[in-house]
Amino acid sequence: NWTRAQPPLLRFLHACYANFLPEDGGAVADYIPELGKADPAHFGIGLATLDGHVYEVGDTRIPFTIQSMSKPFVFALALDTLGAERVERVIGVEPSGDPFNSIRLNAENHPFNPMVNAGAIACSGLIHADKGDGAFEYIRQALGRFAGRELDVDEAVYASESATGDRNRAIGYLLRTNGVITENVPDVLDVYFRQCAILVTARDIAVMAATLANRGINPLTEQQVMTPYAISRALSVMTSSGMYDFAGEWIYRVGVPAKSGVGGGILAALPARLGLGSYSPKLDKHGNSVRGIKVCQALSAHYDLHMLNRS
Ligand code: GLN
Repeated sequence: NWTRAQPPLLRFLHACYANFLPEDGGAVADYIPELGKADPAHFGIGLATLDGHVYEVGDTRIPFTIQSMSKPFVFALALDTLGAERVERVIGVEPSGDPFNSIRLNAENHPFNPMVNAGAIACSGLIHADKGDGAFEYIRQALGRFAGRELDVDEAVYASESATGDRNRAIGYLLRTNGVITENVPDVLDVYFRQCAILVTARDIAVMAATLANRGINPLTEQQVMTPYAISRALSVMTSSGMYDFAGEWIYRVGVPAKSGVGGGILAALPARLGLGSYSPKLDKHGNSVRGIKVCQALSAHYDLHMLNRS
């Protein structure tokens, strides 16, 4: 039996892959028309440990767009670039209980948190205020340091979201009229749409998650890519809001800080332990990958990973 020769963790990931491959629930996102072209059969699971080992099963080298999984990284980047005081003055850290694309702001007319679109667009606006035309390149380079390699952009997905993203544009204007962003709205949205169209693989996401779990030190390159302050705060908002209006249920059941993206990715980072990246394009009604959720639930249950059940 060939599975005998594999380390137990890899064997477990193979079992997850086999068990959840037949899972057919959910639907590929198509409100960004180009995303609708994703192959729903694709399924990849990557897991990176803090000693730099990456376990991979299935389609872990298929590129897909990072979408909302960019949000914790750009929030961390904003904290380190502009200083926590400047960022925390205009973006809240309370869960909203709303869907990711909600246009509702909090009582101060600020975004509820950096994990919903409003908060993420505000982060992109802050980076733009500091870096101007270089904002997107600055973000792309920073995300590449988390992945340990240079990341590209899917120009077709970028163009597709840019052509159809009026709801995000509306959020941008609402943020500007409330003084959350001071920049020209189309410029900020351009940064946001491009950042969402950055191409990653399940393997990349596992390494990026492991870097979050490792207080900002990439376990492959051993580079400190962000301050521990920014990393811990990014993990905090992932814990409370990373899975949108499923965040409470998620942290209760799975107990691992996570972030999903409508491209089909889920990133989960268990501090001091591991980073997980999964890819499967079919999403549930909250916009979270159906198979990805199953993998995280199974992994957490099997290895007893709930973060509030640690010795
Ligand atoms: N680019 C997407 C949007 O703004 C990201 C949403 C997501 O991944 N949940 O709608």
